[in-house]
Amino acid sequence: MHNDIKKTLYSEEQIQEKINDLGQMITRDFKEKNPLVICVLKGAFIFMSDLVKKIDIPLEIDFMAVSSYGQSTKSSGVVKIVKDLDVPVEGRDVLIVEDIIDSGLTLSYLVDVLKGRNALSTTIVTLFDKPGGRTVDLEVDYKGFILPNEFVVGYGLDYAEKYRNLPYIGILKNEVYSHS
Ligand code: 5GP
Ligand code: MG
Ligand code: MG
Repeated sequence: MHNDIKKTLYSEEQIQEKINDLGQMITRDFKEKNPLVICVLKGAFIFMSDLVKKIDIPLEIDFMAVSSYGQSTKSSGVVKIVKDLDVPVEGRDVLIVEDIIDSGLTLSYLVDVLKGRNALSTTIVTLFDKPGGRTVDLEVDYKGFILPNEFVVGYGLDYAEKYRNLPYIGILKNEVYSHS
């Protein structure tokens, strides 16, 4: 375990098992749909890469980068598109792949944008959900793990751009925050 981690919440094996299940459900539900799978960068990059390997239907992928938190652990409430999609979503069944949902602000904004561009359907899959942080109504179609209201890192998720490479998800020691 990394020296800055206080506690592991879910191991690499537990995460992979969950992604297997999610992939099977999505494979079943998206048969004959040829979805456009959108990775919300940066946090979802590892989840996206593991998930699409478990979806056994033809699909296309694209990436979008949004920023809402900056260096802090609290949402600013402002969502900015830092990198937009390369392909149009009009008429497409879109599957949005997100790492974690807290307030729901990021995804409710993204869903509005994609609906405004006339996506045929929008579906959300998130590996982690923190329902206790929700400030907007958001329909989440597939959820991996439900987490308490705590800031987590690893498996793509960062604190000040660090810890994304940890293969598990965990909680940082308190002193990590006070020293940065
Ligand atoms: P929301 O807009 O739902 O409040 O937050 C969504 C984004 O905030 C996530 O995609 C993620 O980038 C970041 N975020 C929310 N909770 C956490 C957390 O516990 N840890 C980390 N590292 N990022 C989080
Ligand atoms: Mg994210
Ligand atoms: Mg972040």
